[in-house]
Amino acid sequence: MTEDPPPVVAAHGVAKTYSNGTEALAPVDLAVAPGEFVTLLGPSGCGKSTLLNLIAGLATPSAGSLAWWGAPSSRSTGPERRIGCVFQSPTLMPWSRVATNVRLPLDLEGRPRADADAAVVRALEQVGIGTFAHHLPRELSGGMQMRASIARALAGEPDLLLMDEPFGALDEFTRQRLDSDLRALWAARGLTIVFVTHSIQEAVFLSTRVLVMGARPGRILASRAIDEAHPRGEQFRASTRFAQHSRALSDCVMAAGAGAFAPA
Ligand code: ADP
Repeated sequence: MTEDPPPVVAAHGVAKTYSNGTEALAPVDLAVAPGEFVTLLGPSGCGKSTLLNLIAGLATPSAGSLAWWGAPSSRSTGPERRIGCVFQSPTLMPWSRVATNVRLPLDLEGRPRADADAAVVRALEQVGIGTFAHHLPRELSGGMQMRASIARALAGEPDLLLMDEPFGALDEFTRQRLDSDLRALWAARGLTIVFVTHSIQEAVFLSTRVLVMGARPGRILASRAIDEAHPRGEQFRASTRFAQHSRALSDCVMAAGAGAFAPA
């Protein structure tokens, strides 16, 4: 009998109160299995970024514990386990070419140059901007800059990709294209992703599971599996199933706003 692999990340009773007394996150339990696309959905201020930072190991919980691949520290999982992060702003160095920007984390970890260059070429191809390697960031549109930011995270071959509202600042058309491409990339590469958004439609389109969060204090109120086949194209966006998922999640978010949920 083969054992299930440990969760990529597991949180047990994890809570966060900031030093100014803000209770950003009440105790939450969460486990992300390999290959899942989990989205944290909720209004501003409900603790999505706080939870994502805890999952990234960038913040320490006030209570509870986290485990990454079954180990108690995100840094004790060995060099073969990597966490990549993408934020709302592409945070590219404006004076450096796209390829140099994407190579930066590999340079910082001392990867041999030829190896790093090959990884950069692969990552840029995967996000569809292979021909822009030698451009400066300002020569790219907002959507392409975000593709470069995703390439930078992918170049390190992450075992877990964390994305904090990466497409929130983009226009709706660009956002939908990037959502489609991200979903295809997730399937092709077998990625494990935790994604943050306040867009119900984006959550339904992308995810295998959506966690609805509420505020004061931030907490997980509901979980909904988006058990729909891949690929998900425009037909899925226009389908009755898409509308049903969106309605159900919208009802959760509304009820949370109205205070109809008791704290978990
Ligand atoms: P979201 O990502 O859902 O918008 P956040 O996790 O950013 O929510 O914030 C949750 C709550 O914690 C908010 O009330 C926010 O103002 C507060 N908060 C976030 N970061 C800090 C911080 N560094 N210090 C104090 N309060 C913070």
